[in-house]
This record gives sequence, C-alpha cells and structure tokens, in this order.
Amino acid sequence: MDLDPIIRAVQTAVGVDSDGRPGTDTWTAIYKKVVPNKALPAESTAAVDDRSERVIATLLPEVQPYARALIGKASAAGIIIKVISGLRTYDEQNDLYAQGRGKPGRIVTNARGGYSNHNFGIAFDIGVFESGKYLDESPKYKAVGALGTDLGLEWGGNWKTIQDEPHFQLRPRWAADLSERDMLAELRSRKDSGKAVYA
Ligand SMILES: [Zn+2]
Repeated sequence: MDLDPIIRAVQTAVGVDSDGRPGTDTWTAIYKKVVPNKALPAESTAAVDDRSERVIATLLPEVQPYARALIGKASAAGIIIKVISGLRTYDEQNDLYAQGRGKPGRIVTNARGGYSNHNFGIAFDIGVFESGKYLDESPKYKAVGALGTDLGLEWGGNWKTIQDEPHFQLRPRWAADLSERDMLAELRSRKDSGKAVYA
C-alpha cells in the first residue's frame, strides 16, 4: 500500500502543509483532533538547560516537545528538573544491564538491549535538582510524575513491578492496548525493518 497519498490527505484534513513528511506540525494537529481532552504540551517558556537539550535531541521528534513541556511545567511548580538520560543503543543498554551483574556498581536495570523503551527514543529520565545539586531521592519526583501524566506521558512511578520515578515515556497510539512486553516486541521489529515508531 502506498502511504504517501494517505499521509498527504491526512495532512490536508488537519490543516497543515501536505508535504508527505509528517513532523511536529502534523503530529500536533492530529493530536489536537484525536486527543481532544488532553491539553497539548504547551510550548515551554522556561529556558531548557544545555544538558537537557543535548539529551532531548536524542529522542524522537514526537517526544521532544513533551520533555521540554515537562521541564516547563515543573519549573512553573517551583521544581528544577533536567533530562539526564534519553536514547540508549542496544550496546549501551547491555553495558548498563551488566552493571551489578559481573560489572562493578549496583543493578540499575532489568532490561537488556532491545528490551528498554530507552532503546527507541520514546523514553527519558529526569533528575530533580536543588541549588544545583542532583537529588537521588525526593518527594518532588512524585510531583513531577503527576505533571508528566497530565501531559499524556507514562510515568515509571506508576509501574506495578519495578517503580522508576525518574522515568517517562510516550506510548505510541498503536500500542494503546498492548502490554509493555508486546509493545517492546513491536518496537524491535519496527527498528529492524526501519519502520517509524509513531507511524
Ligand atoms: Zn528510564
């Protein structure tokens, strides 16, 4: 099936340039149509620090505005956060997995390469900072979790098994009813075949 005319028709219907290459504008317009009850992540007026910007740049274009919006919302609530971890390659994930399992350090993940949402550019971790100092634990993580959920992000603090309060991810719509395991399987297959994550 040739998707190009379909994409262009959707772009025309939602009122953006029908260039056949859906980016932020197209996705924003579609989002407004199909998710009417969720507030779109507002363009953040808060300045995003350089470190966060470098990490945000590793995320998929669809996810980047959410990360910036979260920084803005937190800042408006008097909480300073930075985005400290974004995309990880399978190799980087495997290195992280080895930590505490033969490699020095404590266990920080149960996901091998290809089994973390970080491997697909849809997940990021934040750090809470106070007076320029990173806080490993703080009740503020919960507060930021609620802000992220408001934006339409999934928050690791809501996970049943291993709670991961610094973690946020943007679930693709096709995965709305999928288990985490099935979503990851589809993400791996899309990556292998070069298919877009949010298509
Ligand atoms: Zn994470």
